[in-house]
Amino acid sequence: MMRANWDNSYAALLPQMFTRQAPVPVADPQGLMLNTEHAEELGINFDEDWPAFMAGNQIPQGADPIAQAYAGHQFGHWNPQLGDGRAVLLGEVIGPQGRFDIQLKGAGRTAWSRNGDGRAWYGPVLREYLISEAMHALGIPTTRALAAVATGETILREQGPLPGAIICRTASSHIRVGTFQYFAARNDTQALEALLQQARARHYGASQTVEQFLSAAVAAQARLIAQWMGVGFIHGVMNTDNSHVGGITIDYGPCAFMDDFVPMKTFSSIDRQGRYAYGNQPNLAAWNMAQLATALLPLTEDRDAAVTRFTEIVQGFGDIFDTEYAAVFARKIGLTPNQETGALIDGLLKIMADIGADLTLSFRSLALGDAHAHLGAHPDFTDWHARWQAAGPAQAALAQVNPAIIPRNHLVEAMIANAVAGDMQLFHALHTALKTPYAPCDTARFIAAPSPQEAVTQTFCG
Ligand code: AMP
Ligand code: MG
Ligand code: MG
Repeated sequence: MMRANWDNSYAALLPQMFTRQAPVPVADPQGLMLNTEHAEELGINFDEDWPAFMAGNQIPQGADPIAQAYAGHQFGHWNPQLGDGRAVLLGEVIGPQGRFDIQLKGAGRTAWSRNGDGRAWYGPVLREYLISEAMHALGIPTTRALAAVATGETILREQGPLPGAIICRTASSHIRVGTFQYFAARNDTQALEALLQQARARHYGASQTVEQFLSAAVAAQARLIAQWMGVGFIHGVMNTDNSHVGGITIDYGPCAFMDDFVPMKTFSSIDRQGRYAYGNQPNLAAWNMAQLATALLPLTEDRDAAVTRFTEIVQGFGDIFDTEYAAVFARKIGLTPNQETGALIDGLLKIMADIGADLTLSFRSLALGDAHAHLGAHPDFTDWHARWQAAGPAQAALAQVNPAIIPRNHLVEAMIANAVAGDMQLFHALHTALKTPYAPCDTARFIAAPSPQEAVTQTFCG
């Protein structure tokens, strides 16, 4: 049994916005992980038969499964039709924290699958579970993970046969920039209007004008990217279909947290040009917002005036981002944002980059008072430290903003290898430690930077 207060507003929109689509049942659903705390936040009641529901073998009463239509620019190239190729939106539940989408990812082929099998394996499922929950614990807006199940089926990937799995992802919505683009490209103003109404209701307030909606989306996106930068997060595939209009992190494909600070770091094997490198993320997010603005134009009355106004709004991304970035990093060194603080931040990041210092450990060391151990090798560090101390940092607050633990790539990969071999212990241990990222972590191996042999250099989509 799976009981919840279902209320499927997206499935009540226009028929061209989705396809009705039941998940394809799997051979042998076995529960890997259930997020009971999150289930409570969603007002969902599960029984011991929860894996059958989280695998899509049983449809909860009140659900109305669909696959959503969307398009997108992938690495800058326009793709008019993507859509939920391996995900099914079971529906929306209303609980103590409001309305949430309940989506099964890896639920089988849909009308949007093209050549794909509609499935996922342990790797991407456990990765997304662990990392999205870690992001949430870090205080960064994101989709959440409600459950992970093994399907008992084998799926084929380049690496060979792999054990199948499904993740149940929840989100304040699954409306992407690419969702707007899909209808704009088809001149379907009616669907665009319905989508805008839905997006406003779910994110920024139903009474907003198109212009206010765009401004809110731009601001939320700028804030999100600044928060990513603060923890060294590299999304890896910031295509417009993976850019959420509500400003939340979505689609944990080849994402990674950096270890040593490299301003143009790229991990994703498919990002050969470094388009989505760490330091490019603000520019590419702004580019995505320009695509959102373009897609919203058909909804405006005076197009020329709207072009002018929307251009200003999108150009405003840079200022909002700069302010948010300055605030994020000022907090990380315990100072208020101003010109002097900005110079200190730049100076510290340059020191880190010069000596390849670990981003997480370096900032944490400012809180722990042992920064010389991590940064002292740089000739400028003593001077930097003196200037920083003279500025009067709020030392006591630093541990609350600089995490002790992040989901490091080498640990995530070890966790996946173990899970495939039937051992979930590392998953559970990491998951528990990542729940309280700002608390001291007593597992030295979880906080340490990888050795050169352990360091992961490339991540894959799976
Ligand atoms: P992504 O790179 O994860 O953002 O996915 C891009 C598009 O490919 C989306 O439309 C996905 O639904 C689709 N897709 C990814 N993997 C699969 C798969 N195994 N089967 C079917 N469609 C897929
Ligand atoms: Mg995607
Ligand atoms: Mg993906």
